[in-house]
Amino acid sequence: MQAQAEQNEDVAQNPTLQQRVVIVGGGTAGITVAARLRRAAKNLDITLIEPSAKHYYQPLWTLIGGGVFPREASERDEISLIPEGVTWIQDAVTEFQPEENTVITKSDKRIGYDYLIVAPGIQLDWHKVKGLPAAIGHNGVCSNYTYEYVNSTWEDIQRFTGGNAIFTQPSTPIKCGGAPQKIAYLADDYFRKSGVRDKATVSFISGMGGIFSVKKYADALDTVLARKGMEAHYKHELVEIRAESKEAVFQNLDTQEEAIFPYDMIHVTPPMSAPDFIKHGPLANEAGWVDVDKQTLQHTRYANIFSLGDASSLPTSKTGAAVRKQAPVLVNNLLEVMRGTAVTAQYQGYTSCPLVTGYGKLILAEFDYDLQPQETFPFDQSKERYSMYLLKAYGLPPLYWHGMLKGWG
Ligand code: FAD
Repeated sequence: MQAQAEQNEDVAQNPTLQQRVVIVGGGTAGITVAARLRRAAKNLDITLIEPSAKHYYQPLWTLIGGGVFPREASERDEISLIPEGVTWIQDAVTEFQPEENTVITKSDKRIGYDYLIVAPGIQLDWHKVKGLPAAIGHNGVCSNYTYEYVNSTWEDIQRFTGGNAIFTQPSTPIKCGGAPQKIAYLADDYFRKSGVRDKATVSFISGMGGIFSVKKYADALDTVLARKGMEAHYKHELVEIRAESKEAVFQNLDTQEEAIFPYDMIHVTPPMSAPDFIKHGPLANEAGWVDVDKQTLQHTRYANIFSLGDASSLPTSKTGAAVRKQAPVLVNNLLEVMRGTAVTAQYQGYTSCPLVTGYGKLILAEFDYDLQPQETFPFDQSKERYSMYLLKAYGLPPLYWHGMLKGWG
């Protein structure tokens, strides 16, 4: 570690090594990497391109949709998070020209770089479900997946007086694979407290093949579903919302047949994909994600380009917790490329999903590329625990704002 720090200082102190680094996206990954890079090599010329004036701690949206916190608790001004010495350009990248080491922005700026880090997150494809763009946020159709609509979830849960409450998950990759079911468990818990649960059918309807990808946690979650008396339907993809008749149309992915479910409230997790400007550009793999080596995070065709977070091709569950482990690997390897040495740090796919199973209950899933548990605590994390709920609600947010985004941890 000592030798590493000294080498990083070399990069920082030697002006001939002063390099221009451009970071695309100032969300969880972009800010974390900018902060770590500033700490590691102070003289780097770092520019961050981010269109939004606000930054969101999205993991809190689950508890906001469940009425635990006001949505403002998840929001900060972007400017307050830009590390000192990093230049922020408030603009969106529209095009990559990797042969010329240049990115083009929406306002037609051409920005050159020596090294590029691509972290613009994932795209929410509301339009891929017929009727959803017009229906979302109104009349019982809600979602935790944006700041704009997260309040509609809590309003709909409170308004629900019985009938069918549906919670969906698409078959596409999504950010936080557990979030679609967490809000279902909170709603079920709330319906019990408000006395309407015995007049309700609570259904989790998913395009996936099961409740969770890791067997240890899937077994625990199946027990939770059974205890709560919730219905689960798998390989069912939401394809249409008929707002007028309050019907949700699903396609059975095995038989291709349509199944219609009437709803009184429906929480929708929209389909997602790589952002269009990535998908249709020169950095993408066939599936549209930024094509990087799954261990080094270096681009497979351009040695001076790296990517992490939701927009990257890293084949793990897309979470902020994964970004926390990816960022130090990326920074280490980027500095090694700058020095002209071999890249040595490796990311093994660590990701984590704090599965809220009710108010005051949480299963803390942590696993790697091989879907093997990689647990932090010396107890069985597949058990629902109050302590882990406290960690999510009150421990992780300050660690995010004051640790991870400052380049620590
Ligand atoms: P983001 O943080 O989304 O940032 C992407 C940034 O890129 C944004 O600021 C955006 O404005 C910017 N951008 C977009 N387009 C452009 C462009 N053209 N040019 C420049 N910038 C651009 N993770 C956990 O670890 N634990 C959880 O419990 C958890 N729960 C979640 C619950 C919900 C409801 C949601 C929505 C997410 C949850 N996540 C959770 C996932 C986590 O928030 C994401 O995985 C994480 O934010 C990914 O970081 P990122 O930087 O890749 O993307």
